Amino acid sequence: MEHFAELSARFPKIAWEREFSLSKHTTIGCGGTAALAASPRDTESAAELLAYLARSGVPHCFLGAGANVLPADGRFDGVVVRFHALKALYLDGETVYAGAGVTGGALLRFAEENRLGGFEPFTGIPMSVGGGITMNAGVDGGHFSDVTLGVVGIERGRIRSFTLRDCAFSEKYSLFQSGIAVTGAYLKGEKSSPQRIAERREEFRKRRAHLPGGRSMGCVFVNPEGDSAGRLIEQCGLKGARSGGAIVSEKHANFILNEGGTAADVSALIALIKREVHRQTGIVLQEEIRRLP
Ligand SMILES: Cc1cc2nc3c(=O)[nH]c(=O)nc-3n(C[C@H](O)[C@H](O)[C@H](O)COP(=O)(O)OP(=O)(O)OC[C@H]3O[C@@H](n4cnc5c(N)ncnc54)[C@H](O)[C@@H]3O)c2cc1C
Repeated sequence: MEHFAELSARFPKIAWEREFSLSKHTTIGCGGTAALAASPRDTESAAELLAYLARSGVPHCFLGAGANVLPADGRFDGVVVRFHALKALYLDGETVYAGAGVTGGALLRFAEENRLGGFEPFTGIPMSVGGGITMNAGVDGGHFSDVTLGVVGIERGRIRSFTLRDCAFSEKYSLFQSGIAVTGAYLKGEKSSPQRIAERREEFRKRRAHLPGGRSMGCVFVNPEGDSAGRLIEQCGLKGARSGGAIVSEKHANFILNEGGTAADVSALIALIKREVHRQTGIVLQEEIRRLP
């Protein structure tokens, strides 16, 4: 990308990487490369960068821990903006401030060390706080929408605060899917004891025993109102269905596993599942996963 020299000179405090591998930075492990990846170390430089990219018409997208995205094959001639360096984590009373780059595991450890409960439903969910807020991650028993007090983000190059209501959380959705970057969040914990926290974490960990291992994006489809996408896919006889190196998990039909395939394989399998579920049940499955770029 011809912008590299200009961008790295203009933003020397940002860490830049050329020919960034999307397959290495996503849990599904497929997809091509991006011309550039940018990792701002603070909110201010992230805001300046995003304002500049928008002004200059440079294509860009956001990446968290890469656990719910399907990156395209080929080369993205643009900038992947990463938030992993925004790792601030502090406590004020029972409120935790977590930067967008804090991982789910780090958030849980921090809460445990400070005898704060409320985050146990996130046990085992691969994510960054930024991606978790954006996707309203969670399980029955707790989602980000249940613990978020407010979010700090960047909208059209400006840093601003978002109240819980502004976040417009719903099932697998938040306002931040509209191109607003999350840089951090205020999350409410509740006083607890190490023993109680450990018990609750174990409870949520056990609930995940049925989930398949291997390379995946977690659940591919949102559950339709009052039903389960996995149940519908299984009922349509699609467990084990394959397209190239992508396969519908035998353990949980809403998971697609990548066994050395391409993004095109995964996409083709997603299309096949949608087609077949619609043909057999009349239900149109909606994707939970996000495409990159
Ligand atoms: C094995 C496995 C199990 C899973 N189990 C669960 C589960 O139990 N419950 C659940 O809810 N999810 C689950 N998921 C999905 C995934 O963990 C969540 O969606 C998580 O929130 C993704 O966070 P991330 O940081 O990886 O986001 P990414 O996948 O990197 O990004 C997701 C979307 O958010 C955008 N984004 C990322 N960071 C930011 C930011 N800072 N600002 C604005 N936009 C941003 C990206 O552009 C993309 O559109 C699972 C995934 C896997 C692989």
